[in-house]
Order: sequence, then structure tokens, then C-alpha cells
Amino acid sequence: MTECIFCQLIENPHRTNFLLEDEIGVAFNDINPQAPTHFLVVPKQHVASARELGENDIAIFGHLMGLCQQVASLTGICEEGYRYVLNTGKNGGQTVNHLHFHVLGGRQMGWPPG
Ligand code: 5GP
Ligand code: ZN
Repeated sequence: MTECIFCQLIENPHRTNFLLEDEIGVAFNDINPQAPTHFLVVPKQHVASARELGENDIAIFGHLMGLCQQVASLTGICEEGYRYVLNTGKNGGQTVNHLHFHVLGGRQMGWPPG
């Protein structure tokens, strides 16, 4: 079995509550939420990070952004606003090496990020 925890979640859908799923990606709540609403949107295809997306995969990005918007709408954070985070590589703070958008909302965000 794959060692990637997000691939494991995707391959065993009964083990997690997906907020939304389609042929390209899935959305689920972060296990360690940093805001009242904090979900992740990940491609079903294993892509280690944004750096590994080739020219032919770039459409995945747009599609995942669309999923983020849909789930933001479902969770009621659209009107007040929310934040996309895409940690990439070591200095980007990425800890799970399967591309994922964080979407955080339900509180005022600070800037600069940590
Ligand atoms: P990163 O640090 O790579 O940008 O974000 C990884 C995120 O995945 C973290 O916010 C962490 O809480 C979340 N996470 C790690 N393992 C799991 C898991 O097994 N289930 C869920 N739902 N989230 C996870
Ligand atoms: Zn994976």
C-alpha cells in the first residue's frame, strides 16, 4: 500500500468524510484545524507538490480552485472571505507531500503569515 497518507485517505473513502468529491479531487476537513473552517482540497492523482505540476497538469490547478470555491460556498465562508494556502516544499512549510490547497475561514486572518 502507498505510504502517502492522502493517497490512503483517497483510496479508502469510508475512512474519512469527504465534503465534496469529483473525478479530479476531494475535499475534507483538516485534522488539526487552524480556523473555525479549515478544509483541504487534494487531487486524486498523486502529485508531490505544486513544483511537480507539469504544463499538461496545470488544468488540475484550476479545477481544484473550483472545488475550493464550491466547498467554501457549502461551508458558508464565502461572503466574509477566506484564505487559500498552498505550502510548497520545506521552506514553504509543506509537511504532507501530496499537493493540497488549504482553505481557511470563519475568522479574521493575519498578515504576514508565520
Ligand atoms: P502542510 O503542512 O503539508 O501544508 O499541510 C498538511 C495538513 O494536513 C496539516 O494541516 C495537517 O493537519 C493535515 N493532516 C495531516 N494528516 C492528516 C490526516 O490524516 N487527515 C486529515 N484530515 N488531515 C491531515
Ligand atoms: Zn499521495
